[in-house]
Amino acid sequence: MAEQRLWAPWRLEYIRGAKSGECIFCAGAHPDDDRGRRIVHRGERCFVLLNAYPYASGHLMVAPFAHVPSIEQLEDEVLLELARLTRRSLAVLRELYRPDGFNIGINQGKVAGAGFDDHVHQHVVPRWAGDSNFMPVIGDTRVLPQSLDDSWREISEAFAT
Ligand SMILES: [Zn+2]
Repeated sequence: MAEQRLWAPWRLEYIRGAKSGECIFCAGAHPDDDRGRRIVHRGERCFVLLNAYPYASGHLMVAPFAHVPSIEQLEDEVLLELARLTRRSLAVLRELYRPDGFNIGINQGKVAGAGFDDHVHQHVVPRWAGDSNFMPVIGDTRVLPQSLDDSWREISEAFAT
């Protein structure tokens, strides 16, 4: 299936910045470069980051700090924080982008579409009436009116308030 990437000026920069074989979610555990790693919020057990290959502006991911492939391996407190940060993400995105709806979910395993299948993460994707479809199995066009860096700045600020 041909995928149209309408605008992705950050892609090269992202590839250059990534260390080979590095788990991007474990990298998030290091509190040294939130901007470079697109981390918009840190909780105690989980954190929120921008997807570097977003399906829409404001495409967030909520992940535990623990490197486990499935929610089956998460303790109750971690699951609770994952849910609470997902709820917070919706509020932040609703305020900033006024979406008409959201796709929320976990792709578990490569066969289910997970790009990184060894560190579980929940996607939060804002949707607008008339936008392109969600996952590549459904639609193949991504519309990205805002750069990742702008998204990172706005969303980080919103989480901080
Ligand atoms: Zn990891």
